[in-house]
Amino acid sequence: MIAHRFAFALASGVDALDGVEVLGHRCDNPLCQRIGDEHVVVSSHQQNRREWAARKDLTGSPLGDPRGSRARARELRDLARQDPLLVAQDQARLRAIYGEQLHLW
Ligand SMILES: [Zn+2]
Repeated sequence: MIAHRFAFALASGVDALDGVEVLGHRCDNPLCQRIGDEHVVVSSHQQNRREWAARKDLTGSPLGDPRGSRARARELRDLARQDPLLVAQDQARLRAIYGEQLHLW
């Protein structure tokens, strides 16, 4: 079982998970297991693709990572197992490549 589905079952109950097609990451962090409106939410394959298309080209979006979300998640998992600081370094590397989302004011 994928970790964020397990977290959803803990938060909402195992029966609630039965009817869930997809859990989407609004935070675009595939390692995230925080259930809630800004993180992991109930979604569908169609809605998940639509949200990915809408956010993949945003400056600083992890969805623009050329490794793809699955490979990125595996690499981040492996880095976290070695040393959690390596995950922060990977995120800093992405910010250097894709830039930081600028504040509007
Ligand atoms: Zn999150």
